Amino acid sequence: MNKLKYCFASLLFLFAAVVSAQEEVKVEREQGHTAQSKFRQMYQEFATPNTYRSASGAPGPDYYQQQANYKMDILLDDKNTKIYGTETITYINNSPDDLEFLWLQLDQNVRTKDSKSLLKDGDGVPLAEPTEGFVQKYMTGNFDGGFNIEYVKDASGKELPYTINQTMMRVDLPQSLKSKAQVSFSIKWWYNIPDHTVSRARSGYEYFPEDGNRAYVIAQFFPRMAVYSDVEGWQNHQFWGSGEFALTFGDYEVNITVPADHILDGTGELQNRKDVFSKEMMDRFEKAKKSYDKPVIIVTQAEAEAAEKGFSEKTKTWKLKAQNVRDFAFATSRKFIWDMQAVKFGARDVMAVSMYPKEGNPLWEDLSTKAVAHTLRSYSAHTFDYPYHKAISVHAKNQGMEYPMICWNYGRPDENGNISDRVKYGMISVIIHEVGHNFFPMIVNSDERQWGWMDEGLDTFMQYMAEQEFGEAFPDDIAPNAKYPSRRGDPSKIVPYMSGDQSTISPIMENPENVYQLGNNAYGKPATALNILRETVMGRDLFDHAFKTYSHRWMFKHPTPEDFFRTMEDASAVDLDWFWRGWFYTTDYVDIGVKEVKKYFVSNKPTKKMQEYMAERNVTEADLPPLVYLADEESEDFNADLKGKAPSENSKTLNEYMMDNMTAVERAAVKQPKYFYEITFNKPGGIPMPLIVEYTYADGTKENITYPPEIWRKSDKEVKRVMATQKELVGIMVDPKAETADIDTTNNSWPKKDEKSDFDQFKENIKGE
Ligand SMILES: [Zn+2]
Repeated sequence: MNKLKYCFASLLFLFAAVVSAQEEVKVEREQGHTAQSKFRQMYQEFATPNTYRSASGAPGPDYYQQQANYKMDILLDDKNTKIYGTETITYINNSPDDLEFLWLQLDQNVRTKDSKSLLKDGDGVPLAEPTEGFVQKYMTGNFDGGFNIEYVKDASGKELPYTINQTMMRVDLPQSLKSKAQVSFSIKWWYNIPDHTVSRARSGYEYFPEDGNRAYVIAQFFPRMAVYSDVEGWQNHQFWGSGEFALTFGDYEVNITVPADHILDGTGELQNRKDVFSKEMMDRFEKAKKSYDKPVIIVTQAEAEAAEKGFSEKTKTWKLKAQNVRDFAFATSRKFIWDMQAVKFGARDVMAVSMYPKEGNPLWEDLSTKAVAHTLRSYSAHTFDYPYHKAISVHAKNQGMEYPMICWNYGRPDENGNISDRVKYGMISVIIHEVGHNFFPMIVNSDERQWGWMDEGLDTFMQYMAEQEFGEAFPDDIAPNAKYPSRRGDPSKIVPYMSGDQSTISPIMENPENVYQLGNNAYGKPATALNILRETVMGRDLFDHAFKTYSHRWMFKHPTPEDFFRTMEDASAVDLDWFWRGWFYTTDYVDIGVKEVKKYFVSNKPTKKMQEYMAERNVTEADLPPLVYLADEESEDFNADLKGKAPSENSKTLNEYMMDNMTAVERAAVKQPKYFYEITFNKPGGIPMPLIVEYTYADGTKENITYPPEIWRKSDKEVKRVMATQKELVGIMVDPKAETADIDTTNNSWPKKDEKSDFDQFKENIKGE
């Protein structure tokens, strides 16, 4: 570059910089744009990284977690619907702190007669009340379902003082439990088992009046250690009912005594199969272990129906042992049918298991174990190989609840045996969801009491992928040529929520007890956000690697939201501050549109505006470097001669430049765009997103350009792009595949489509929910 040209170039640069700086200030003023950009660093929202939790999102060098090992003897009294238990807990203090006391969770105390959870809500008379709820609320007394603690004793049998505060119990130690030391103590208790179909409990029994039997799904049945961690100290937030559980990993040895004609399955490996299985069951079990394509029935419907009439006075004890689980649950009844099949993971086999009363058939024997096996395969492919030896799906009316290796699921044919699509898909979906919870939060053990979305949102996102894969793997089980009808995950499904009344929407980053619309808040929105992150923002390769990295880093550990957010960036090099802030920390929505399109042509003289600019500064064309001028078709600068001509034909400076600087071959190869468009995109919604645009030309061809979300960094409300094209532009469509959850599509096209029909389409979309 010669010196004279350099001088011109820097003058031009200065000139351009002055113009754009002025424009910018103007734009900022007009739009009220402030330094509070969605793109600013997340330092204010994120906890400071430290030696326990690294800035990368991985566990730090001093990361620790506590361990609680349980030995329990449990007796289920079917006649009186009571459960009795004794446990010895060995608590290992891996923290650097000495602990003066221990906190345990007494979740059943949420149903003591005087439970505060009954008084916590300030709503008035609803539109309608579920019948059971009405009876319970206004016509019967409160169920007496709290823990009755008989004793808490130390290892030598000496009573330990304890204090119960609602659902939390503090056990005071005679001397502090030192860092790296452990303590053993025992607790004896009993409680009345609730009818979960009436009390909407996560655990209890269902009574079947036709045969007089009960099916039990039992969880939160023992005093459980609270979590002590670097983040919360003791996580002893009360259990109010919505915010689920925060639990410590440990090893379990549990002996459960039930009527002799019951069958039982639960968390852990059965230690005394020979004592509790019949010869036939043993033979069938051996077959099931080698059956990889379909389940083998271990207890048949005929056998279960015969057992329903038994009411044995004798008992049997089922002995289960589990390692490295965060909880323990079991299901038992004489009504249960039982089937199993094997699923291969490398050299290891995992058993997919279902237990259901005859009331669940034929739906359950057809689809439950199939759904369990599919879930294990699908989730493992996206995270890590399922590490436990089995996963059980238990049928329980109206239940959808998860525990390590076992979960309760709804979905029952009606009294006439009819199975609607709603029941069938609901049942497959809930099984995928609850079995999927083995991954989040049973193994990637987030704090559910604090952050519902960390397990529900991640699980619902994984559920969406597993459902779609189920449809592809088993096309005969869904409607012909259909996509699996996922309830949540598709961007369009979250639009009614995100565009709804702001006074009933909370950010995702909120405690589950405090949010409005928990289903949308903790399940639907985070699942959709992650789906959009994968499909539209990061792309599958980068997302999947980062998501797997998170899963592996926090497998059998306790992650926080920041650990997730940080890892997703750490493993992908995608800057996501704006995404977390927009989707997780605010109640903003996505709405991006095309506002205006202006057509320009290359002009042979300075435009009016340019002439004014030069006059104000007392400069002439001769003082400036060679410039190319663009005339607005709507302005007085425009004349018909300019239209559709190659730029070098209309611009003397451009022509000279090409002659001076290019060879004939280079000139022949140069593109000469004939149309110049200035397109203004606007963003009424608060969430920045990639600007996905489909341009349509007069010859019917289309061009798709995705501008990165960073396009909104300096101007949150409006941005302009110039398109230089050979062909005339006839149409522009923003987000043509509806992948961003844009809440208003009436502003997505140019020329503007008939608003009414667009609005009708929008309404249709809502109705589809
Ligand atoms: Zn869930």
